[in-house]
Amino acid sequence: MQLWGWDEQAALPVSAYVHIPFCRHRCGYCNFSLLANRDDLIDRFLNALEVELSKLEIPRQVETLFLGGGTPSILPQDRMDRLLTLLNHWLPLSSQGEWTIEANPLDISDSFCEHICSRGINRISIGGQSFQPTKLIRLERDHSPEELMESVERSHKFFSSVSLDLIFGAPNETFSGWQTDLQTAIELGVHHLSTYGLTFEKGSRFWGMRERHEIESVPEELELAMYEEAIDRLSRAGFEHYEISNFAKPSHRCRHNQSYWLGESWWAFGPSAARFVGGTRSVNHRGTLEYIRRIEQNRSTIHEMEKLSNAQRVRERFVFGMRQMEGVNWTAMRLEAEPSVAIAIDAAIEKHIAGGWLMRDREWIRLTRAGLFVSDALWGDYL
Ligand code: SF4
Repeated sequence: MQLWGWDEQAALPVSAYVHIPFCRHRCGYCNFSLLANRDDLIDRFLNALEVELSKLEIPRQVETLFLGGGTPSILPQDRMDRLLTLLNHWLPLSSQGEWTIEANPLDISDSFCEHICSRGINRISIGGQSFQPTKLIRLERDHSPEELMESVERSHKFFSSVSLDLIFGAPNETFSGWQTDLQTAIELGVHHLSTYGLTFEKGSRFWGMRERHEIESVPEELELAMYEEAIDRLSRAGFEHYEISNFAKPSHRCRHNQSYWLGESWWAFGPSAARFVGGTRSVNHRGTLEYIRRIEQNRSTIHEMEKLSNAQRVRERFVFGMRQMEGVNWTAMRLEAEPSVAIAIDAAIEKHIAGGWLMRDREWIRLTRAGLFVSDALWGDYL
């Protein structure tokens, strides 16, 4: 346990994230930690993960478990079975717990759903991104609109909560195309939507293509209009806009991600996984092979570790909390802050209220609509 900076006094996490670093191919916009088309490494990875999970010493019950990636759903059934057996042993889910898996539409067959549901997974997050054929090709996705629609319909038969990821602002995307994406998701009855403007991450193929003028970002005004359209159209359809990029039907918010925004602690396993345990943040090595080799050589997987000071914790909890539309109860949080930190945050809040980006509602501070569009530029003043 010392491994993750945990001490006996600290409350144990009740959330866990497990990173499965495999995909069939790498989409042009993606710079996540993963290996494309390296199924030959799955067994070695699972061996390593088993060792890392055993550092928990005894099984630790969790309220939320999130299998992300990469594409966890590409594991063949026998490897998936091994993974779920490991997780059911080391991170047993409470009876009311939420267990999410990220899945590619091509993997969502009846037998896949039956198998993972029988092992306890109750929420699926489908990496669909769009229902427009040309946009899917541009994003280098490997499924068609029809396959995505079928996967959503099938998921409804098996999972109590179905989430979908949609990207907006793909090169050459039109406003009406984006409206169609949103409307199709609404009509398919998804319970939860995560929607992000396409980013050109350094290191991704799209980054290089944009540098060489082979593709272009959509104009900023169009991207903003698309985001506003998501907020308005999804709100009219009964979704709660509960976090900058996330929308949920009542009682379908992602409890796992909420634990991050509320500043709670969580376990994390796998390459690049970042955990927050007992006031210490630590991050595993990003490379999958490096992660595997380190475990095989009985060396630590941890790349960075930092014990957060009280000041850092308050500042970070404020910023993460502000991502939620309900904002932060600053009157309560302020009591935990050292005076100098409280005064600095007060000053930033006043400046941003004066700018029209934040509002005060009794004890609560939250983003205004104008603040939503510039939120990333605000957080530096609090950190
Ligand atoms: S499927 Fe998802 S995780 Fe895999 S390369 Fe594409 S965007 Fe990245």
